[in-house]
Amino acid sequence: MNAPLIDPFGRHVSYLRVSVTDRCDMRCVYCMAENMVFLPKPEVLTLEELERLCRAFIALGTRRIRVTGGEPLVRRGLDGFMRSLGDWLGRPAGQPGLDELTITTNGSQLARFAPMLRDAGVERVNVSLDTLDPARFRAVTRIGRLEQTLEGIEAARAEGLAVRINMVAMRDTSEDEIDSMVAWCGQVGADLCLIETMPMGDTGEDRLDRYLPLSVVRAGLERRWTLRETAHRTGGPARYVLVEETGQRIGFITPMTHTFCETCNRVRLSCTGTLFMCLGQDDAADLRRPLREGADQPALMAAIRQAIRRKPKGHDFVIGRREDTRGVARHMSATGG
Ligand code: SAM
Ligand code: SF4
Repeated sequence: MNAPLIDPFGRHVSYLRVSVTDRCDMRCVYCMAENMVFLPKPEVLTLEELERLCRAFIALGTRRIRVTGGEPLVRRGLDGFMRSLGDWLGRPAGQPGLDELTITTNGSQLARFAPMLRDAGVERVNVSLDTLDPARFRAVTRIGRLEQTLEGIEAARAEGLAVRINMVAMRDTSEDEIDSMVAWCGQVGADLCLIETMPMGDTGEDRLDRYLPLSVVRAGLERRWTLRETAHRTGGPARYVLVEETGQRIGFITPMTHTFCETCNRVRLSCTGTLFMCLGQDDAADLRRPLREGADQPALMAAIRQAIRRKPKGHDFVIGRREDTRGVARHMSATGG
């Protein structure tokens, strides 16, 4: 076995998020600009190239991979990629392999692909859903259709996949809307994860206008629901409570009001082979160059190890008026959320 990836702050990096495309069939207001320009094809790694990089990570002790994007289910050929990653599940203890393979999706293509995901060994999917109101769904995603995402969620459940709903809290999200989502998640048996908007990339919108701290959301929820603290963790930054009335959990991802960096165990690989050691910093390592210059597996592993030595302590995000906001220029869809 190779020595594990330990960063300069003693954190064991064992979780990889892989963005398989920067493209998407939606244009969510917090994520993308309306007239988003996507990467030219030659810059994007083939799925075989991405798989080679994933293999190098697995050899270095990565135990969990989340496939994301852009919208991962719009990438052609994703089934073969998922199956080859799925082959790493269930390996004997003490050997390189994956404990979990998951995906984050907007759900639009899930009705078609849920069986493929299940067959590849995926047991859990995160589906982004900010509202249950069709008109508001259209306004938030600019082009999405609520019905399609709901059908996708239904198909995933029918395949026996556990579903977690990701909801980005926005200032114009009403209390009614959050309550409907909590109740609906109770009915369909899904956990709900609330996320604070992060200042990533220009979306043509004012961040301060949109930003809603989850401390405010939680205070409102506590007045209307019985929330019980739980120690439940999924290896990510969410802190969970149990809603007694529904029996489902609510997770809070609060990069802005509380930094979660001290326990960060992850890095992100973009679809161009750029490795971001932190979601909220610009430093990155170019793995595409060695890959395309013919580096073998040990050389790729050495490049990854070197990058992990530069993993920063945490992000520096700040949301304020336009001139006070501090974020990163790249979009979440380019980094892989
Ligand atoms: N297209 C897929 C989806 O929407 O689930 C996967 C990629 S998307 C970039 C991953 C997650 O990032 C989504 O849950 C989305 O809500 C979240 N996200 C995008 N931009 C964000 C931002 N600026 N701040 C916080 N979360 C964001
Ligand atoms: Fe697409 Fe996901 Fe970004 Fe929305 S959040 S625009 S669905 S990548």
